[in-house]
Amino acid sequence: MTIQQYIKDFIALFFPQTCAGCDAPLVHSEYLICTDCWYHMPYTQGHKDAQNVSARQLWGRVQLEAVASYVYFVDSSRVKQLLHQLKYRNRPEIGELIGTRYGLALKTSSPFDKADIIVPVPLHPVKLRKRGYNQSAFFAKGLSSSMCRPIVEHCLVRRHATKSQTQKNRYERYENMRETFAVGDPDAVAGKHVLLVDDVLTTGATMEACAGVLLKAGAAKVSAVTIAKAL
Ligand SMILES: [Zn+2]
Repeated sequence: MTIQQYIKDFIALFFPQTCAGCDAPLVHSEYLICTDCWYHMPYTQGHKDAQNVSARQLWGRVQLEAVASYVYFVDSSRVKQLLHQLKYRNRPEIGELIGTRYGLALKTSSPFDKADIIVPVPLHPVKLRKRGYNQSAFFAKGLSSSMCRPIVEHCLVRRHATKSQTQKNRYERYENMRETFAVGDPDAVAGKHVLLVDDVLTTGATMEACAGVLLKAGAAKVSAVTIAKAL
């Protein structure tokens, strides 16, 4: 045992590192998320099934090459805790770690392996200032390191906070969302197969709007992945 490891273990006696998903103490070989959580995560395996629930949710709404989510978002689960930590507890490294793992599966899975660039869904600037980071950009960073594809982070921009969607019908909601996003750098996406990434797929309105503006700006194809799929 090296002296550094000895000191680390000694400190860990008093300040044990705990799992971001279940709070169990982590052992040496574990980083952020424990082996048990990795094992029991509700994986969708959606990247192996073109007709998965995430893909079906967007059918007929926008032309997407493929859509997949890594895990199901189940209430009172470790996924919920992980996402909460990622978004509200200043732990962006969780997004990066999940991206690194998911990227290993996606890089051998068609058509995700054909993507040219990775584009995270941007946060509204006000939210970004408040939170200090875009959790989807960290997820993108992990995907990028495993898939060996570049991130083009600022080509998609978010213009204003989304107004309340509740009083609007589906078309009005779509129009409202669509106005929210713009492509700031069309040259960066022209002719490219874009892998669009976000943290959670809920109504699909964000993905629909982002994919719409990317295609309009000249992207050849858009595929989309999220960490979780809300049920
Ligand atoms: Zn755990």
